[in-house]
Amino acid sequence: MNLVCSECGRAAAADAMFCASCEGLLAFETFAAAPGAAPDRDRIAARRNSNDMRDRSGVWRYRDLLPPIPFDSIVTLREGDVPVYDAPRSAAYAGVQRLSCLHLGMNPTASFKDAGMTVAISRAAATGARVAICASTGNTSASLSAYAARAGISAVVLVPSTGISEAKVAQTLDYGATVVAIDGDFDAALETVRAMDPQRVAIVNSVNPYRIEGQKTAAFVLLEQRGWRVPDWIVLPGGNLGNTSALGKGFREALALGWIDRLPRLAVVQASGAAPFARAFRDKADLIPVHAETTATAIKIGAPASWKKARAEVAASLGTVLHVDDDAIADARAIVGRDGIGCEPASAATLAGLRQLAGNGTIGAGDDIVLILTGHVLKDGAYAANYHESAAPFANHILRGVDPAEVIDRLNAPA
Ligand SMILES: *Cc1c(COP(=O)(O)O)cnc(C)c1O
Ligand SMILES: [Zn+2]
Repeated sequence: MNLVCSECGRAAAADAMFCASCEGLLAFETFAAAPGAAPDRDRIAARRNSNDMRDRSGVWRYRDLLPPIPFDSIVTLREGDVPVYDAPRSAAYAGVQRLSCLHLGMNPTASFKDAGMTVAISRAAATGARVAICASTGNTSASLSAYAARAGISAVVLVPSTGISEAKVAQTLDYGATVVAIDGDFDAALETVRAMDPQRVAIVNSVNPYRIEGQKTAAFVLLEQRGWRVPDWIVLPGGNLGNTSALGKGFREALALGWIDRLPRLAVVQASGAAPFARAFRDKADLIPVHAETTATAIKIGAPASWKKARAEVAASLGTVLHVDDDAIADARAIVGRDGIGCEPASAATLAGLRQLAGNGTIGAGDDIVLILTGHVLKDGAYAANYHESAAPFANHILRGVDPAEVIDRLNAPA
């Protein structure tokens, strides 16, 4: 698999992080098998039956489609093999007949970042890196620190000093990373990281093409669990847009291998206060960075690094990009909880976005739709607690001074 510039197409050195001629993001070329030698999807899926963590991992069982990394260098926490849940209450809320959720919050550190991080850190380990760094709104830092701890690599994370979930910072500290709070937002932190020398420190933000390769396997894991039936729509949140780039690439590779016969359409949902990609899509123009403001902190990003890659994936899939406001995200998040699933705010932008797209007829009520839930409900417990103490429509208030027996009677009463 060759590493090339995603913008000018020039070949890149194996240890580069950006294009030497145009500074564009690097990408591994679309995986293509020799004629008649496409990997057998069923043989790969059958690795689930093994007891080797690398076979059980939803990422590493697809290693035939990943950049070559020595098997002994693989650093895994058995990530990627996450469930697909049906979500009837969420479907009713959005106004569609059926809906399912690929829950990437069910990963080892409770967000999708693990699927990319296992590959980025395995690569760093294979090349002898001693220190790894990322800028983060919280989940990348938690994931980096866990995998770095497993690998015996020192982790350094740059986080905004305000507006990030306490739970995510605590988790990161727990795994032993050095946490540096910076006086600025995520975009400023990423600028700092991008300027670092990749020879001295492994940069593991989603500008790292190994991250994208790991994250693309979520497309395979989803299809595998659906018996390779392609959904009509995939709805996912968009922040830095690495995940949109990764999932789009995964589906295109599955198509190129003959594993599926069409692409699902990608609907990317941003928070209204952090929606430069939605605006660029609407205006068919280049992305203009914004100052990001949203309570969905995982997508509070004003200058998404991967917007060009993501735009190409949305176009290839005949997809769309939209934005939803913070109140819509908050209500949708509470509804996902009512399905017994739960997710963090950024993930719930998907359900709010679906509701908008079903309401305006872009998505049909009978379509086959999958939401990508990117992070676990416990990633931002304070947000959930605040919602349920508020006067919001789906707030579930704690009862005080009531007789529990009366509560039981009320719940047993015929409707
Ligand atoms: C990182 C993250 C996102 C945004 O993903 P991008 O690849 O930056 O677009 C969305 N939701 C959660 C929970 C995340 O951790
Ligand atoms: Zn280039």
